Amino acid sequence: MTGLLLASIHDVSPRFESEIDRLVDLLQPHVSERIAMLVVPNHWGDAPIVPGSAFAARLRRWSNAGFEMFLHGFYHRDERRHSGADAWRARMMTAGEGEFLGVTRMQAQDRIRQGKSLIEDVTGAAIAGFIAPAWLYGPGTLEALGDCGIAIAEDHWRIWSPATGEALAKGPVITWASRTRVRLASSLAAAAVLRRSPQRVLRLGVHPPDIGHPALVKSIERTLSIAGGARRAACYRQLLRT
Ligand SMILES: [Zn+2]
Repeated sequence: MTGLLLASIHDVSPRFESEIDRLVDLLQPHVSERIAMLVVPNHWGDAPIVPGSAFAARLRRWSNAGFEMFLHGFYHRDERRHSGADAWRARMMTAGEGEFLGVTRMQAQDRIRQGKSLIEDVTGAAIAGFIAPAWLYGPGTLEALGDCGIAIAEDHWRIWSPATGEALAKGPVITWASRTRVRLASSLAAAAVLRRSPQRVLRLGVHPPDIGHPALVKSIERTLSIAGGARRAACYRQLLRT
């Protein structure tokens, strides 16, 4: 059976409009419309997606073309103060972007419902699922996903269905980091190994800042051509049917 390749663009927000265009141009020759857009309704609280705006119209066009839309947090940034191990995790792993690590079940429900209805109003189609910023889910969020009937979620290591509890795929996601030179170098090394991984479902996630680093763009292209050559580009939703 041919392996699958799932490609996603993180942090889809009017704040990163030009970067997202360039990422779409980078991915499309390899995966066509099989692109998951991880949409942030109001990035950092000051980049809202406004129904009727030009950006909203573009989301609808992408959705109509077959791109899958995922809710990706609401504000993206973690506004809460963590203590102990959570504080360390939030700081080290996310630079404060783990919005859904510390929220309560009620807060998570509110933000998921609001974000879901915003994206669905704008695109006229149901969201495919929810992916937490930095792939970090606190216990309240995990409960809220089931409460809200979310069909698909993922973290660094797996894809699952909160609605049914079913595991959909396993294996790490290939992603790139550019905040420090060490992280940049280690993400290039990881991508070089993972793109040849035999796992059934291979995921690749790109972020707006990636496009500003020629070495990362090269690695993303090489990963798309090696993994894409050996695999079929797929939608996340296909996992629900296999
Ligand atoms: Zn993100």
